[in-house]
Amino acid sequence: MTAAKLHVTQGPDTLSVFSPFDGSVIGSVDVTGAEEVEELLVRARKGAELSKGLPRHRRASILEKAAQIVESRSERFATAIVSEAGKTLVQARKEVLRCVNTLKLSAEEAKRNAGEVVPFDAYAGSESRQGWFTREPLGIITAITPYNDPLNLVAHKLGPAIAGGNAVLLKPSELTPFSAINLVDALVEAGLPAEVITVAVGGVALGKALVEAREVRMVSFTGGFATGEAISRSAGLKKMAMELGGNAPVIVMADCDFEKAVESSVSGAYWAAGQNCIGAQRILVQAEVYDKFRDAFVLATKKLKAGDPLREDTDVGPMISAQAAERTESVVQKALDAGAKVLCGHRRDGSVYHPTVLEDTPLNCQLWIEEVFAPVVMLAPFETLDQAIALANEPEYSLHAGIFTSNLADALDAAARIDAGGVMINDTSDYRFDAMPFGGSKYGSMGREGVRFAYEDMTQPKVVCFNRA
Ligand code: NAD
Repeated sequence: MTAAKLHVTQGPDTLSVFSPFDGSVIGSVDVTGAEEVEELLVRARKGAELSKGLPRHRRASILEKAAQIVESRSERFATAIVSEAGKTLVQARKEVLRCVNTLKLSAEEAKRNAGEVVPFDAYAGSESRQGWFTREPLGIITAITPYNDPLNLVAHKLGPAIAGGNAVLLKPSELTPFSAINLVDALVEAGLPAEVITVAVGGVALGKALVEAREVRMVSFTGGFATGEAISRSAGLKKMAMELGGNAPVIVMADCDFEKAVESSVSGAYWAAGQNCIGAQRILVQAEVYDKFRDAFVLATKKLKAGDPLREDTDVGPMISAQAAERTESVVQKALDAGAKVLCGHRRDGSVYHPTVLEDTPLNCQLWIEEVFAPVVMLAPFETLDQAIALANEPEYSLHAGIFTSNLADALDAAARIDAGGVMINDTSDYRFDAMPFGGSKYGSMGREGVRFAYEDMTQPKVVCFNRA
């Protein structure tokens, strides 16, 4: 029995899931209605009890075993990602490997991060006291995830939540539910009591009901700003983790390793067809090397093969839907109408939007200011590092930034002055290791993922103080 069958109330309502590439139906899942949330809460309450009762070695061994199961079926997991999210096979295989690592890190966290001694005798008058704090589960957590990394972003919520002894009501993107369901199946097969994770597939009304439920102690959300704002309006008094969008800048200094900067920026711009919250969107290049960089970047972009994600030689797959590609086409067209110049791409075949490079984009364009979440890159020249940092910091929100330079002082200066959750030196904004703290730094940023940090968000300290006097 699949987790979908187990965890989603059977009913006449099913939802079809479509291939982003050709629009064919790849499967269907039962839909949970908002009115069923009460029923899910009964189950989650039991799950929370069971999860809290699991000793840490059990939580760790379940997560380890689930990691082994995912690894042993990696090709099946990768194919599901390709089918429902449209990532290329190479990208999907990488996501599966990262998910395995996220689960392993969660297993370690379950055993490692149990609390600390509190130095009561550091305060005069408290010498006779000693004690510690433990890390206790929160209880029930609602986890809501987007379509673009349908496996590893789910693992980033489930792994730490299980390590911390919580139960989860998981609402994966209705566009890509199968990777999440497969992962929950693997966890249950690894020994997790089934009530600990409840998968509910549905749309906005379901998400809203899961967020509003008073018994839910935390909402862990990854997705877009508009949804994040809607969630914050309806959540009430709960902890919230918000992993939202970006509009990442990458700075290319004249003294950098040029070949590396080009190669890495091309990958960082078009990975997952640019549907990547830390994908490089604005590449700022020092004037001395601007023309050379532009020519090399455009040449490398033109070499990329866009199309069928199941073909081993495809570099850039489709966007999540033809509508998403149409939206991209229209945002780019507006920038062109405002004076931007297209250097390559800006062509659409159904859901495939060909990798696109622009220059001379006016700084008041939607494309410059907002997240595009598509295979579109803007190049812009600058004279000094101060100017580059000012340009990098323009948008209202940010996740990651990158800088290529061989000058240590410039690298550290940029790291200190760029407002971002992470600054990657000699990598593009796109670099991420699953154990590092990950999140935004400006509007809407709340909480951090990266296993240890999510685990800490998903647990609460409890102090024990013993007075021996
Ligand atoms: P989205 O916000 O449209 O949807 C995300 C999830 O929220 C889906 O499961 C959706 O059904 C649900 N949802 C929608 N309305 C809701 C509501 N009112 N209440 C509760 N749930 C609701 O995002 P998307 O289009 O799937 O994903 C793309 C976005 O996600 C981009 O902005 C991207 O930058 C962001 N993202 C961020 C990170 C990160 O870690 N910071 C990672 C990946 C993607």
